[in-house]
Amino acid sequence: MDHFLYRDGVLHAEDIPLPDLSAQTGTPFYVYSAATLTRHFRLFDEALEGMEHLVCYAVKANSNLAVLRLLGGLGAGADVVSGGEYRKARAAGIPGERIVFSGVGKTREEMRLALGEGIRQFNVESEPEMEALNAVALSMGTRAPVALRINPDVDAKTHAKISTGKSENKFGIPISRAGSTYAAAAALPGLEVVGIDMHIGSQLTDLAPFEQAYTKLAALTRTLRGDGHRIVRLDLGGGLGIPYERSNSAPPLPVEYGHMVRRVLGDTGCEILIEPGRLIAGNAGVLVARVIYVKHGEDRDFLILDAAMNDLIRPAMYDAHHDIVPVVEPEPGGDSVTYDVVGPVCETGDTFARQRRLKPLKEGDLVAFRSAGAYGAVMASEYNSRPLVPEVLVSGDHSAVIRARPSFEEMLNRDTIPEWL
Ligand SMILES: *Cc1c(COP(=O)(O)O)cnc(C)c1O
Repeated sequence: MDHFLYRDGVLHAEDIPLPDLSAQTGTPFYVYSAATLTRHFRLFDEALEGMEHLVCYAVKANSNLAVLRLLGGLGAGADVVSGGEYRKARAAGIPGERIVFSGVGKTREEMRLALGEGIRQFNVESEPEMEALNAVALSMGTRAPVALRINPDVDAKTHAKISTGKSENKFGIPISRAGSTYAAAAALPGLEVVGIDMHIGSQLTDLAPFEQAYTKLAALTRTLRGDGHRIVRLDLGGGLGIPYERSNSAPPLPVEYGHMVRRVLGDTGCEILIEPGRLIAGNAGVLVARVIYVKHGEDRDFLILDAAMNDLIRPAMYDAHHDIVPVVEPEPGGDSVTYDVVGPVCETGDTFARQRRLKPLKEGDLVAFRSAGAYGAVMASEYNSRPLVPEVLVSGDHSAVIRARPSFEEMLNRDTIPEWL
């Protein structure tokens, strides 16, 4: 459920009509619903009720400071994958003790930053990283809390570009080597082993791969404890999917995920961390765009929008589907027409949808891409020298621009022409 609903035929973000926001901000822009973000965070928090747990929001899904401030204020921790994300989480007021640091390529500088300011745990993904973290911690006279990210070799049955838990993926330590790697970690004086971490992929629409992975995790917990390791925390990663197409059957709910976690891992007595990103932010945002032209091609009609692949890259990158809806509801009845929905960028890949059935649209009409709150604005670029797409947050009848569109002057000033040219 989200808070983008039609009232009197006009799509609203909570209590604000999208045409009003468009008039203030100009298109294209992202708009997020505080009520939806709050609701989704609480669904996860409640799903794990009764188990010691922390929901560490995956910052990479939507890292706007206002979004982080809102979630942090509700008690969320953060899962970060770079020094930049760590700084953003801290700047938004999330304390270091609630931040976990993931990623295959943490640099020594990033380790130093997080160790200096506080960190709940590093999710370590390889032996060389383990050695580096040990050295950094010792040089700072401290010990780094670590979980090793174990690659369980399960098929998440999601898009290949966001599947991370198969043995051929770059992520984690192969489960077959877990025993020896934990032994090596325990021998390093700069590390304090606290748990085990897994993250098998994103946009999973079925609980079965999670259950397979967590069953292996439960067994590994017993084995490692048998070897004398202190395993008190299990980080289960993120990955629960969202319904991008309203017409499709819905993926499992957080509460069902929570039941499964309790059934498979409840008797380990471990604290449970989860790292949801997409499910918290995805349906909490839409991208609003305007029709520039309707172009009648030789064998198809193109709806040319003022949003492009640089603003929302998911269709080009993952062949992702986003529902596209008119901001002003058309009169009931009347035939649908078929469009290729495209942006102005000079690439054929700048196509949001092929042969999409929509009610007829005309120049100047507003449309909204649903489910665009996660992996939307964070992946935007200024390709084709298009200004970075702005972001707006709505709560009830309040709205605020939480990232302004840069002016062309600001964009020009970022580049420097050397004096010798
Ligand atoms: C991307 C990522 C997540 C979040 O995944 P979602 O599918 O957005 O829930 C969590 N943990 C790690 C380590 C990730 O890389």
